[in-house]
Amino acid sequence: MFDSIIIGCGFAGAVLGRELADKGKKVLILEQRNHIGGNAYDLLDEHGIRIHQYGPHIFHTNLTNVYEYLSRFTDWYEYSHEVVGNIYGELLPIPFNLNTLFCVYDKEKATRIKDKLIAAYGENVKVPILELRQNNDTEIQEVAEYVYENIFLKYTMKQWGQKPEEIDPSVSGRVPVVLSYDNRYFQDTYQGLPLEGYTKLFETMLDHENISVRLNTPAKDFIEIKEDHVYFEGNVFEGEVIFTGALDEFFDCKFGRLPYRSLIFKTEYYENAPYQSHGVVNYTVTEDYTRITEYPYLTGQKADGTTIMKEYPIPYCGENGEIPYYAIINAENLALYHKYVSLVKQIPNFHLLGRLAEYKYYNIDAIVKRALDMSMDM
Ligand SMILES: Cc1cc2nc3c(=O)[nH]c(=O)nc-3n(C[C@H](O)[C@H](O)[C@H](O)COP(=O)(O)OP(=O)(O)OC[C@H]3O[C@@H](n4cnc5c(N)ncnc54)[C@H](O)[C@@H]3O)c2cc1C
Repeated sequence: MFDSIIIGCGFAGAVLGRELADKGKKVLILEQRNHIGGNAYDLLDEHGIRIHQYGPHIFHTNLTNVYEYLSRFTDWYEYSHEVVGNIYGELLPIPFNLNTLFCVYDKEKATRIKDKLIAAYGENVKVPILELRQNNDTEIQEVAEYVYENIFLKYTMKQWGQKPEEIDPSVSGRVPVVLSYDNRYFQDTYQGLPLEGYTKLFETMLDHENISVRLNTPAKDFIEIKEDHVYFEGNVFEGEVIFTGALDEFFDCKFGRLPYRSLIFKTEYYENAPYQSHGVVNYTVTEDYTRITEYPYLTGQKADGTTIMKEYPIPYCGENGEIPYYAIINAENLALYHKYVSLVKQIPNFHLLGRLAEYKYYNIDAIVKRALDMSMDM
């Protein structure tokens, strides 16, 4: 009945499914959640405000083909994302740029430092704080220290659950200072959100006579791997099988769990809008949460009230209801991941795609590109 089976209906699975369907293949998508869209799923909350259930997703890319591809399924609300950091109650542009410099220091000192920075590194460049620290000028070093202490350190400790001594200096050294007045978080050519939401984008993409989607369906209900073959409903399946879920969980974590960070999202509704000055405010030195998102800024929705979302990072333990969000990538964890890969490597029609199955972080544009590329060989 089906030529291809796809496990998971996020961007990876849906884009690949659509591409195969357009080539005339009958595609079955199995999704364990009760909705399509993966982590990009959005919905109207009980107050009619559009929110992203799994955290704010802002589309941004320099890839014209990816933008044009998604534009087949949606129009866009053009939103330029700006983030401010709440640093002991004061709101400063993030990442640290020349505007931030003038917020932190008085005009005379900021102008002096700006001139020194531009003379040393040029305009419109991103300079890692490691480089600033190596500069002999004490005022430039002071900027690097400010960024490390007030923007990077405590935020990273919250996000990754690390102690200061566990933070890899090669990572902290890469935190940039941006020598421009551009407050946008992303500089990509295309930025925005689907005008009618991500879920609608997915509905349009999946609306194809060759695509069937089964929700509330974990892969293991129908798919089994035995002796280097994929079985579907008890019979060997010769078509392509694309797996976008967590590989360790598919194999009952037989070698141990792949480590992830997870998040708890708490929403609050306010009758008086707006709640805050920007779409996202990062709490870089205080609070247990890392950031607050106010959705109407992102979506452009005009409503009487507003909904905000606080994000609390937590370890992922695999408990019911917990979701693995960020792979914790290091040599040990990648070695464990490759033990799982070895269980499917010999199966030519079983493919791994997506942030879970490949145990890596993808932005939306990168996973759409990867799905489009993979579909060309099928
Ligand atoms: C908090 C957060 C914010 C983000 N913000 C942005 C952003 O602003 N911009 C951006 O470009 N990217 C952002 N991303 C990244 C974006 O979420 C990913 O690029 C995208 O989700 C990857 O799609 P995917 O299909 O690989 O994974 P997912 O969206 O996770 O989809 C995988 C799907 O597979 C299903 N599944 C898993 N296992 C099984 C199984 N065994 N059986 C059946 N179904 C299964 C899952 O239920 C899920 O629906 C963010 C990520 C996070 C965590």
